[in-house]
Amino acid sequence: MKDVFPKGSAWIDNKIVKLSEAKISILDWGFLRSDATYDVVHVWKGRFFQLDNHIDRFFNSTIKLKMPCSISRNKIKKILAQCVKESGLENSYVEMIQTRGISPNFERDPRKATPKFMAFAVPFGWILKPEDFENGLDVFLTDIKRIPPSSVDPKIKNYHWIDLVTGMLNAYEKGHHTAILLDENNNVSEGPGFNIFSVNDDGIVTPDHGVLEGITRQTVIKLAEELKIKIYEKPITIEMLKLSNELFATSTAGGVMPITKINGKNVSNGKVGNYTRKIHKLYWDKHFDPLWSVSIKEIL
Ligand SMILES: *Cc1c(COP(=O)(O)O)cnc(C)c1O
Repeated sequence: MKDVFPKGSAWIDNKIVKLSEAKISILDWGFLRSDATYDVVHVWKGRFFQLDNHIDRFFNSTIKLKMPCSISRNKIKKILAQCVKESGLENSYVEMIQTRGISPNFERDPRKATPKFMAFAVPFGWILKPEDFENGLDVFLTDIKRIPPSSVDPKIKNYHWIDLVTGMLNAYEKGHHTAILLDENNNVSEGPGFNIFSVNDDGIVTPDHGVLEGITRQTVIKLAEELKIKIYEKPITIEMLKLSNELFATSTAGGVMPITKINGKNVSNGKVGNYTRKIHKLYWDKHFDPLWSVSIKEIL
C-alpha cells in the first residue's frame, strides 16, 4: 500500500512519534462531534512566524470552548519546535490541536471529558504554490452560506468544515481552484482556510463579519498601515467582489495569494495587482525580522 503519510512528526500522549503512530480514540468528542479547536502556524527557513499570536488565539479558543488549555505557552513552543526538529523540515506547516477528549463510559456530558492536546509538523502547504503566483487563483463563488456566527463563533478556529468542504467539492467539479462562501446577509465571508481582501479605488476591504480572524489577515492589516494603504473591515457585497481592482486571499497555508479569476472570469485585467505584490513582498520580508519571527533553535 502506498504510504499515505507525508514527511513529518507528531506529539501525542506526551511523546514525539512518527505521523503514522499519532492516533486518537474513536470515542474522542473531537472525532465524533468535531468538538475541538486547533491552530496552524508556519515555519519558514527554520523560523516560526507570529508564533505568540497563534498561541494567543489557540488559548482564547480553548477558553471559549470551556476547556482551557492546561499546557503552558513555553511548553507548547517547545513541543512545536521539537516536532519541527524531528521532522527535519526547513519549511513546515505546524498544527496544534485540543479535542474535548473522552468522557468515562461514553457519558453525554462534555464536562466529564479530559481534553487532549496534540501537535504535528508536516511540509509547508500552499493554497497557491509560488510557481503559480502570476496565474493566481480561480475561485468559484458558491451560494453556500458559511455557518453563521449565531451558531458557531467563527473566531474559534474549528473543525466545522462541511460547508467549506462542500464549497471545495463544487469548485473542483467545475474546474476551479477553490471556493468563496457567503454570509447569512449574502455578503462575502471566507474560503476553506483563507480570508478575502478586495482592492477598490478607496483602498483595501476585508469582511468584518462571520469570518475567522486570520493571523495572516491581521498581519496584512498591519502591513497595509505600514505601507500607508487605507484598509477597512466592512462587508463586501458580491457586486463589490466582482468589480474589485485586485483580489487576494490570505492564509498561514501560503501567505498572500492573488485571486485573478472568479468563476473563470478575469478580476479586473486578470493580472496580479500592485497592492497585492507590495503586501506579498513585505509579508515574506517580515519572516526574517525578529519582531515577527523566531528561530526554532532559540526555542529548543
Ligand atoms: C485558519 C483559517 C483561516 C486563515 O487564518 P490564518 O490564521 O491566516 O491562517 C481563515 N478561515 C478559516 C475558516 C480558517 O480556519
